Amino acid sequence: MENRKVRVRFAPSPTGPLHMGGVRTALYNYLFAKKTGGDFILRIEDTDQTRYVPGAEEYIMEALEWCGMKINEGPKSGGEYGPYRQSERKASYLEFAEKLIESGHAYYAFDTPEELTEMRERLTKAKVAAPQYNAVTRETMKNSLTLSEDEVKRRIDEGEPYVIRIKIPRKEEVRFHDVVRGWVVVHSSQMDDKVLFKSDGMPTYHLANVVDDYKMKITHVIRGEEWLPSAPLHVLLYRYLGWEEVMPAFAHLPLILKPDGNGKLSKRDGDRLGFPVFPLNWKDPDSGEESQGYRERGYFPESFVNMLAMLGWNPGTSQEIFSMDELIEAFSLERVGKSGSKFDPEKAKWYNQQYLRTYDDAALAEIFQVTLKEKGINASDAYVTKVCSLIKEKTQFTAEFWGFGNYFFQQPESYDEKVIEKRWNETAIRFFPALADAFEDIEDWRADEIESVFKLIAEKLEINPGHVMQLFRVLLSGQGGGPVLFEMTELLGKQEVVARLRNGVERLK
Ligand code: GLU
Repeated sequence: MENRKVRVRFAPSPTGPLHMGGVRTALYNYLFAKKTGGDFILRIEDTDQTRYVPGAEEYIMEALEWCGMKINEGPKSGGEYGPYRQSERKASYLEFAEKLIESGHAYYAFDTPEELTEMRERLTKAKVAAPQYNAVTRETMKNSLTLSEDEVKRRIDEGEPYVIRIKIPRKEEVRFHDVVRGWVVVHSSQMDDKVLFKSDGMPTYHLANVVDDYKMKITHVIRGEEWLPSAPLHVLLYRYLGWEEVMPAFAHLPLILKPDGNGKLSKRDGDRLGFPVFPLNWKDPDSGEESQGYRERGYFPESFVNMLAMLGWNPGTSQEIFSMDELIEAFSLERVGKSGSKFDPEKAKWYNQQYLRTYDDAALAEIFQVTLKEKGINASDAYVTKVCSLIKEKTQFTAEFWGFGNYFFQQPESYDEKVIEKRWNETAIRFFPALADAFEDIEDWRADEIESVFKLIAEKLEINPGHVMQLFRVLLSGQGGGPVLFEMTELLGKQEVVARLRNGVERLK
């Protein structure tokens, strides 16, 4: 086991868009694989055809790609252990279910849905807390343990529908070690005889998952905590199929919790509190309902990945910003916590802001130019780059650039009313025309020069510069706050500034 090359898989079922919890599972698999020089495999678990949602598989692949996780083997890239879609491996599962029957660890069951319901009702009446098909109840049902061999054969030959169930031992402790949780011990009396093979000719998740992990030589199963209850069953399957030697290590990841810590983060929390829970936009093919993704909300993939990595894992230091390479370097399963992590939407934004600040101005300008072009605004890259350098400190998303910086491209449409109400008075009416005149005479239109002229005029008119400073900003930008004032003035250009001041005085008369 020690010498095997690390191989991990992300094994989503294409039943809808990938939740951010699913992306985190993929990410921890990816980080672990890359850290250990192993392979990251994508396997699509589509055995439940009733839950198949068109477009979900493409969505999953696009999301992983957006996050920068490169797949070593998968449905698109192929690989030595393919195919990587369970529906295409259909023919390979029955053999193992039959092997289990032969060795006495599984059996045929012929019970109809009505009979199963009847059994549950009977047990509920008898006050059994969790009625299930198990070591006790199987004795009373129609299966190859209770029917004669001939009868079983006859039913199968006549084409009667059947399922194959695992025969869970009556009294046994099932133990396994989980990298995150330590030793997990479950008594078999708590387990039920799960269906391994369905009447539609398809394996269930449990059988297909274990068979494929074995065949694909998976060394570590890293998945969400919701699969922890299935793990004892999987452990028994490894044992009964004779694969215990190569059973993968298990690591069950803690949940991502709602912002208030009460329960698992759901799409409804996102809708209610206004944050995305999916990586990319998703349109439900049935209802037509649209959900916004982190990508479309304006998050950088790097910040989304960084934020997700910290939801459940910690580096053991106070460092919060990690590139993908740094995450790979620092990651270990041992530092994944046992308890759930509260999702904090403000922290997600904070991460984006940190990344936005590290982007260089020209790259941000390229993004901003798309919006400007859409608005029919033609501005040089050099100018937009300077605008970005001034406004980026104040924003968390590039999508906010237009809201913060539209006045760099057009006259303000309106003025911040609160500032006008508080500050527009006789003094202002004296100051701004004089300021415009003095600005016209500036030859070297630079921030420091502009600032000294501003102060000089105030002094001359015996006005406290502090009383007109914010108004000055509002006349130029419409807004009460914004980037460094005189640098912003410099960038707007002399003519534009003078025109806006004169115009403002007119408008506010
Ligand atoms: N198909 C399962 C899912 O949708 C995979 C669980 C596992 O990784 O074993 O999450």
